[in-house]
Amino acid sequence: MEESGPDFSQPALANVVSCREVPATVELAERGMGVPGLILDRDGVLNLDQQFVAHPMDFQWVDGAKELLFWAGSEQIPVAIVTNQSGIGAGLYREDDFLVLTSWMMTQVPIQLLLYCPHAPEESCTGRKPNPRLVRYAVERLGLDPSRSLMVGDKLTDLEAAKGAGLHALRFSGGNLHDQVREAFEKIRLG
Ligand SMILES: [Mg+2]
Ligand SMILES: [Zn+2]
Repeated sequence: MEESGPDFSQPALANVVSCREVPATVELAERGMGVPGLILDRDGVLNLDQQFVAHPMDFQWVDGAKELLFWAGSEQIPVAIVTNQSGIGAGLYREDDFLVLTSWMMTQVPIQLLLYCPHAPEESCTGRKPNPRLVRYAVERLGLDPSRSLMVGDKLTDLEAAKGAGLHALRFSGGNLHDQVREAFEKIRLG
């Protein structure tokens, strides 16, 4: 057995959790012993945001995205994705399609956890960013130290959610994801 590298032995969907399965309030534990980690938005960060991406053939990786995830995997840095998927609530694609795409994505790259909210904005779900509920849950599930962890998003709502979980935040607006995230993360991960 290899001692490091992505673990593809678990079925990916065991680590895919919707807002319906997350407690209404998530307390952050005191975590002096927590580890540095990365929490990433999906659309506009990992893949080009082309309105509603619902199938692997529509999923176009951003420059440096796979490189970033493989680097994190090789460094044993936990990675979670937290994504608003209002296209499901709006009836533009099915939750099953999203889950098929997700399980495909999670066989391509090392990602420990993916959290999603399928609700449309008018449903006012607290799982939807900018509410930090799912981000806080990711912090707890992965045992992160928020003060040494980074959240990356392309929208202000991502940065707001990061703030609500006590994480550092980086706004990504194009270019090479690996280069930008690694530079920001290296500055904070050692505390
Ligand atoms: Mg986005
Ligand atoms: Zn929701």
